[in-house]
Amino acid sequence: MLADKDRIFTNIYGQHDWGLQGALKRGSWDGTKTILEAGRDWIIEHMKASGLRGRGGAGFPTGLKWSFMPKNNDGRPHYLVVNADESEPGTCKDREILRHDPHHLVEGCLIAGFAMGAHTAYIYVRGEFIHERENLQAAVDQAYEARLIGKNNVHGWDFDIYVHHGAGAYICGEETALIESLEGKKGQPRLKPPFPANVGLYGCPTTVNNVESIAVAPTILRRGAAWFSAIGRPNNVGTKLYGISGHVNTPCVVEDAMGIPFKELIEKHGGGVRGGWDNLLAIIPGGASCPIIPADQCADLIMDFDGCRAVKSSLGTAGVLVMDKSTDVIKAIARISYFFRHESCGQCTPCREGTGWMWRVMDRMVAGRAQKREIDLLLQVTTQVEGHTICALGDAAAWPIQGLIRHFRPEIEKRIDQYAANPHSDPVPVPV
Ligand code: SF4
Repeated sequence: MLADKDRIFTNIYGQHDWGLQGALKRGSWDGTKTILEAGRDWIIEHMKASGLRGRGGAGFPTGLKWSFMPKNNDGRPHYLVVNADESEPGTCKDREILRHDPHHLVEGCLIAGFAMGAHTAYIYVRGEFIHERENLQAAVDQAYEARLIGKNNVHGWDFDIYVHHGAGAYICGEETALIESLEGKKGQPRLKPPFPANVGLYGCPTTVNNVESIAVAPTILRRGAAWFSAIGRPNNVGTKLYGISGHVNTPCVVEDAMGIPFKELIEKHGGGVRGGWDNLLAIIPGGASCPIIPADQCADLIMDFDGCRAVKSSLGTAGVLVMDKSTDVIKAIARISYFFRHESCGQCTPCREGTGWMWRVMDRMVAGRAQKREIDLLLQVTTQVEGHTICALGDAAAWPIQGLIRHFRPEIEKRIDQYAANPHSDPVPVPV
């Protein structure tokens, strides 16, 4: 378990003043000028050495991502874009940073922007995050007023931050759709390449980072790469915000070490599974797009990138959805299928048609109104969507169904048998 002295987010529950004075007392903006004076190369090398992997789900090394920004000056401005469009079911960690510790993010923007040669950052906030956006904007205003950012600020690097409020589309959390949306266009993902580091916002070099990735950077640079990389285990280091929801006694967002055993996470922070550990049916470890993990694989599960991959799932955003034995697991995954079908932007055929097709079959399977051969057919469709789309939403729609079939095929077959034996029974409606 993470020691208190190693916590980065010391106001995650809003127990202190989240404004500038409170943030200063908790160590924000301490020695920022010294960090900038160490130079861009020093910052990027330290971020690489820290081992921080992006906290938005993909886990790409943050320092390496920053190093992709062009070093030569071809006259185009560089941009930092922060993805605060957190909207996948089960994921609510960045919300706590925006609400209760926004100065970590504001300071992180300045440092990351400087390291990448950017004088401007845009923070794209989820449309539904009204209070979060207000707190963030207030923190940005406070930083301007104290001349921590802005023109001729005390840090010697002119830097502007614009908070942009989204309009509620999940797909705008995909980095290129987010860029399109920022440009005032319909939020639809772009084909890559070109990658944003070369052709991003307004055709200029751009790095898009998750809120948590940027917000932890100042503390890493203050306390040192060695401190951060000593937490967790190799390739999976540092502290992490975990979101625990579903059938636990105390749902919460908590900061702990990468690599914490799942059981410890749930027992210590989530208050245990509702009805006790033996009542656990399954979990989804990192937001609705991650494959489900059955209870028998949870006892030894390690909550980090490699630990979740070992059981054919992924850490994602570490938004853990816990399901106890009262859960209709087929219905739960069907509901997730509906979400992805609803949020598909529709511009590529496998996703537009596939997500609708998958949801309709899942809808029938909830009631058992299907044939057993359709289980393999459904699986086949998921593999034809996966990897064949412009963005990762197609994969995100395919993986939960693949996980369901991998671990709960007997449940689906049983439901089909039950319906076949009594076809006049009321179908179980899917709550849409
Ligand atoms: Fe749009 Fe889906 Fe294609 Fe992504 S995969 S671009 S969401 S249609």
